[in-house]
Amino acid sequence: METPTPDLVCPFCEILAGNQPSAFVSRLESVSSFVNPRQYRPGATLVIPNRHVVTVFDMTPEEWAAVFVHAKQVAAAACAAIGASGVNIFQNNGRSAGQSVFHVHVHVVPRSDGDKGPAIFGEGYVEKTPMDERRAIAQRIRAHLPRDLTPSAGRTQDSRRARARSSSSDPAVPVVETRRGS
Ligand SMILES: [Zn+2]
Repeated sequence: METPTPDLVCPFCEILAGNQPSAFVSRLESVSSFVNPRQYRPGATLVIPNRHVVTVFDMTPEEWAAVFVHAKQVAAAACAAIGASGVNIFQNNGRSAGQSVFHVHVHVVPRSDGDKGPAIFGEGYVEKTPMDERRAIAQRIRAHLPRDLTPSAGRTQDSRRARARSSSSDPAVPVVETRRGS
């Protein structure tokens, strides 16, 4: 495990080391989860990698997958335990995005109809952006994606794979635009 910066002891590493008390839900090989000390919604839980990593960009793909696979399991269990009908699963990277503990953590927050908590990023009050502007934004983001992405990545159905392949052979269609919904 990497050492947190010397002037700042990582509170989550302290919990993992047993130096701070915590209500663990699970302790797995690479991932752990515990009840959020601040129960802003009943059952709010945190899922963290056991290795000290500050943001998503410090994680291996395997760690990222393990954390989110387990977050889904914890979410299902928390919803069953609380009797919730929905769940927010989110995480923040960097102070500007609201990260306050600098050890990657995924929030799992059971939700119920009519509960008093705010919807996360309620976007309904913002007008839809015109399509040409959206496509310009997509182009700017796409320019920074890894160049070795293939259109079949993440597809499980052969028909979808075939469609993605055929559109990738069309130079007018940017390959990653075929990955809608992924
Ligand atoms: Zn840590």
